[in-house]
Amino acid sequence: MTASTATDDISKATSTTGCHGGKARLREAAAAAGKSETLDGYAADYPVGPHDQPQSMCPAFGSLRVGLRMRRTATILSGSACCVYGLTFTSHFYGAKRTVGYVPFNSETLVTGRLYEDIREAVFKLADPVLYDAVVVTNLCVPTASGVPIQKLPREVNGVRIIPIDVPGFGVPTHAEAKDVLAGAMLRYARNEAEAGPVAAPRAGVTDRPTVTLLGEMFPADPVGLGMLLEPMGLAAGPVVPTREWRELYAALDCAAVAAIHPFYTASIREFETAGRQVVGSAPVGYEGTAAWLEAVGRTCGIPAAAIGAALDRALPGIRAALDATPIRGRITLSGYEGSELLVARLLVESGADLRYVGTACPRTRWSDPDREWLESRGVQVRFRASLEQDLEALAEYRPELAIGTTPVVQKAKQRGVPALYFTNLISARPLMGVAGAGSLAQVVNAALGNRARFDEMTAFFTGVGEGDTAGVWPSQPVLHPEFRERQRKSRPAVVEEPV
Ligand code: SF4
Repeated sequence: MTASTATDDISKATSTTGCHGGKARLREAAAAAGKSETLDGYAADYPVGPHDQPQSMCPAFGSLRVGLRMRRTATILSGSACCVYGLTFTSHFYGAKRTVGYVPFNSETLVTGRLYEDIREAVFKLADPVLYDAVVVTNLCVPTASGVPIQKLPREVNGVRIIPIDVPGFGVPTHAEAKDVLAGAMLRYARNEAEAGPVAAPRAGVTDRPTVTLLGEMFPADPVGLGMLLEPMGLAAGPVVPTREWRELYAALDCAAVAAIHPFYTASIREFETAGRQVVGSAPVGYEGTAAWLEAVGRTCGIPAAAIGAALDRALPGIRAALDATPIRGRITLSGYEGSELLVARLLVESGADLRYVGTACPRTRWSDPDREWLESRGVQVRFRASLEQDLEALAEYRPELAIGTTPVVQKAKQRGVPALYFTNLISARPLMGVAGAGSLAQVVNAALGNRARFDEMTAFFTGVGEGDTAGVWPSQPVLHPEFRERQRKSRPAVVEEPV
């Protein structure tokens, strides 16, 4: 395939079908352009079977967000203008307040290799050690498929670390896993630095107690609560990965154990294991979850049984009291794409909820096994790589009194008059762990469950106003023409690509 033919194909695949098609062709093009190793690595780290890739936002949003949250870290995107527009829009919508660098391209710069030179030039301009510790350079779909070789960028420029990553929608299934792509790349870099010589200490100084690194984004108060749970065992909470600053990476690696609070950080866990660190799955959610987690962490860190017992004695009565004081009564389905779905599910069950289904866009890993086994033993259906259709099937089958889910699931539930809560905004952004988690989750879930009467009222009020093609205010009853739609459908060229 000549370069221009390849580029034509890539452009065609992305322009006609965007993120939702052309996966096979883009993969082929990327492999032909020398990206096989990267894509094979992603396929091993982020397996898509058996339910294929779930519908989700552009995965690069995950890694972009991780970079934008770090101090003294610059970000450069290389990709189609529409992708970059969407990504920057979303990051600013979520309050990034940071500049996102963009190296634009056209067919010519892509085909001639000029794009790589442009990226290199941008990196050299940006790499000011007074301002930055690191520059993250991200290849989106088209540059990855075209084989733009950002891995050839210098490892550092003027003492500023350069972190090149490919985050194509046809290689990284979810934005959650894209966070791991960047966190893993940074940990590898930091591990090599630490192995080569002395590195910077954490800004807050080094603690005298062994630490447990916390893997996965969480509510800001949760690490404080985790620290209090660990304290009777003589342990302290270490940094949260993804970190907010480069030097925290060294402290994260320098730990007694790693708590994989979110179980999908495969590349990051590989770096910790290479550094000789042991990893513990699950998290201290609810009574049983907290007991199991404290015991697992204590055993892993070689803590004497008496100290583990002291930690249990201190933590568990308060959690039991909080769970008993704020029980949840109701039939619930739960779905999301953040990676904390199984933890929330455990907490719901421990709070007394009749939870029937939990679907997550993330893959099953050995670190999610403890939570999966616990949930399945209580009759909860657990689905990894859940698609929207499967989440909606669960909604139809289990007829919940409350649906917790992604935007389209919530929309469908509300259309049916079922109270619903957005997982990302209203559930995953709350404390989940220890006593704080038990009380906080029950508060929001019970308030939503109590809304049933309002939904009934709204359903009754809107009954008969029309839906679908007849939704809205009309001077007369709209006349439907299904034959027009059918004609349009037949006139469209068949798109046979797999969905991305
Ligand atoms: S980078 Fe890929 S997945 Fe992301 S918006 Fe662009 S085409 Fe879609």
